[in-house]
Amino acid sequence: MIRRGLLLILSSPSGAGKSTLSRMLMAWDQTMRFSVSATTRPPRPGEAEGREYFFRSREAFEDMVKSGEMLEHAEVFGNLYGSPRSPVLAAMDAGRDTVFDIDWQGGQQIAQAMRDDVVSIFILPPSIAELDRRLRTRGQDSDTVIAGRMAKSRDEISHWAEYDYVLVNDDLDQTFEKLKAILTAERLRRERQPQLSAFVRALNEEFEAR
Ligand code: ADP
Ligand code: 5GP
Repeated sequence: MIRRGLLLILSSPSGAGKSTLSRMLMAWDQTMRFSVSATTRPPRPGEAEGREYFFRSREAFEDMVKSGEMLEHAEVFGNLYGSPRSPVLAAMDAGRDTVFDIDWQGGQQIAQAMRDDVVSIFILPPSIAELDRRLRTRGQDSDTVIAGRMAKSRDEISHWAEYDYVLVNDDLDQTFEKLKAILTAERLRRERQPQLSAFVRALNEEFEAR
């Protein structure tokens, strides 16, 4: 029997490093699936349809919400974002873990609906000056967009205590080591190992046969 896939939720203020960390995680374990969100925000240079996001009009997005296709959705920085439901359920049934790069509103919605399957991690920047520097060096947003994101980051950070784990992303490699440690431990939780009862039964049979 295969383990039910877990839902790994990564949230942080924009620029703290969750996309970088989730990409590292996918490269480390290729059985993991990234939940590609739908959004009404326009693509950034280098973003591809269906890889970073499904880029949709507001009307198309609202239709997806109405028809129940979204596991969660929220408005962030004036745009709508949401996680399509069916690929997540399919991955869980196939025993594959799903990584979400979503904000606190989405994290709350998924945790309310599927608490036992959720592992949530909040990523903090080492300082606000460094957060600002990372947003600028990413070089993908205009000054106005960056200012808007910085203004929102205080609000996002205020939700840190709602998460199961908190990582301060100072040194990237060290943070990644901690992220892998969390995932490894969470996969080993007793309730996530449905094959254990049969395994222990077999151990007992072995006792009896001695
Ligand atoms: P988010 O997805 O949270 O908005 P990104 O992963 O896009 O953030 O990271 C923002 C920028 O900061 C990127 O240019 C990324 O390479 C860089 N970055 C991420 N983590 C670190 C780190 N620990 N140290 C230095 N730079 C980092
Ligand atoms: P960005 O525009 O930088 O890609 O993402 C902006 C914010 O929206 C980030 O905090 C990101 O985590 C969040 N986000 C991305 N996809 C989703 C989603 O499907 N649902 C929710 N609730 N937030 C999302």
